[in-house]
Amino acid sequence: MSLLDELRAVVGSDQVLAEGDLSAWEVDWRQRHRGRALAVVRPANTGEVAAVVRTCARHGVTIVPQGGNTGLVGASVPDDSGSQVLLSLVRLNRVREIDAVNLTMTVDAGCVLQTVQQAAADQRLLFPLSLGAEGSCTIGGNLATNAGGTQVLRYGNARELCLGLEVVTASGELWNGLAGLRKDNSGYDLRDLYIGSEGTLGVITAATLKLYAQPAAVFNAWVAVPTLEAAVDLLSRARIRLGNGLTGFEAMNALSLSLVQRHFPELRIPLPPGDWAVLIEQAAEDSSTAGRAPLESVLESALSDGVASDAVIADNLSQAAAMWHVRESIPLAQAQEGHNIKHDIALPVSRITAFVQHTDAALVRAWPGVRLVNFGHLGDGNLHYNVQPPTQANTADFLRDHEAAVHELVYDSVTAHGGTISAEHGIGADKRDALVRHKSPVALALMRSIKAALDPQGTMNPGRLL
Ligand code: FAD
Ligand code: ZN
Repeated sequence: MSLLDELRAVVGSDQVLAEGDLSAWEVDWRQRHRGRALAVVRPANTGEVAAVVRTCARHGVTIVPQGGNTGLVGASVPDDSGSQVLLSLVRLNRVREIDAVNLTMTVDAGCVLQTVQQAAADQRLLFPLSLGAEGSCTIGGNLATNAGGTQVLRYGNARELCLGLEVVTASGELWNGLAGLRKDNSGYDLRDLYIGSEGTLGVITAATLKLYAQPAAVFNAWVAVPTLEAAVDLLSRARIRLGNGLTGFEAMNALSLSLVQRHFPELRIPLPPGDWAVLIEQAAEDSSTAGRAPLESVLESALSDGVASDAVIADNLSQAAAMWHVRESIPLAQAQEGHNIKHDIALPVSRITAFVQHTDAALVRAWPGVRLVNFGHLGDGNLHYNVQPPTQANTADFLRDHEAAVHELVYDSVTAHGGTISAEHGIGADKRDALVRHKSPVALALMRSIKAALDPQGTMNPGRLL
């Protein structure tokens, strides 16, 4: 039997797509990668995933796992060889169990993040992972990329929210590591190897996730600050005054907000744009206005010390949602503006201002007119430090001629300031070369040994990450 016939026998012929328009699976969200798959295969459950992986391994065919295809580093779509199987996990979409006593839930990998959040909320519990793509990204993709998002400051990233995994290994065996244990020192942590592995070690088919009590109330403030340095000062004050109540701290430069205004004129920016804006979120155990007293006191002291120039607290949920909508529209506005050069970096918060001052100046010196769209999860030291070509430049030409050099300048500066070239989006196809330049040779060698041990045939998402 041919490979495709064998796959049809496993998942049903209507779940093996080999003809027609497959661009929904073959083109990435940024439209920077256009691959060609041998077939898109859509298993319905873990057993079918394992059979698909075994079949592909027997035929020596490589596999690209895919969830919501919202990844930003070119790791979720096939290459252009036409020889890879695109394994879509979206039909694995069951919430298997919610254990309200243990504060855990076990879900299939293809569950959309928003569905998982809602299932927890239906039990008056909280699954705190939250990011702009939550309406379409999947929990499997979130774990495979160790996604971050807007609540990392308080709850950690996807890794910290996961207690156990079910994985189909590269050879097609099933490892059931689903566990609701908060302590388990019985050897190497296999779960942590698969988290953040970008589909290169095996296929995540289910996960046991941590749940939290819902806070009684959440308060949001939009703050205009004169400089990035002031935003960092405001963060220090908020950390000390709000403690664990500080759940989000996002910063946005003026250009990020002006792109939102240009491409989504129906959205209202809460305050006239200063040089920078900050969106703060505070969770409280008291839902009356007394609950927001700590946030108010941070804002008052910042205003009187000149750290903030203006501030407004959302009066109700819809005002708060509107503030977050503005923040989350920045990547969409940037995509509307045209292709850009993305950097998803993290630095010690104490060195962020120096990094931005140094790197802004160097970029503008080297490429006069470049537009620096800088926003992100400042509370985690994580910036989306993106470079938009000069308005008068032809975008395609600029990227072709300068993208590699722009990356090099930014990443050299990140390394010099003690940071990382990937805070949350991963390495994928886009940052492989940069990883080799910026990761220690010892770390790279250890990573290659792990890849060789867990995927000796090299069938899982080859050419990505390593
Ligand atoms: P995909 O894009 O389908 O895949 C991503 C990677 O995971 C690929 O390498 C793929 O092979 C692998 N993979 C997917 N599913 C599995 C599986 N079941 N088993 C093994 N490997 C698998 N990311 C953040 O971290 N923080 C943010 O704030 C954030 N904001 C975003 C906002 C927007 C508008 C967009 C478009 C993206 C954003 N992202 C963010 C990036 C992206 O949403 C996340 O990386 C997300 O976790 C990817 O999930 P996905 O299901 O779409 O995965
Ligand atoms: Zn982000």
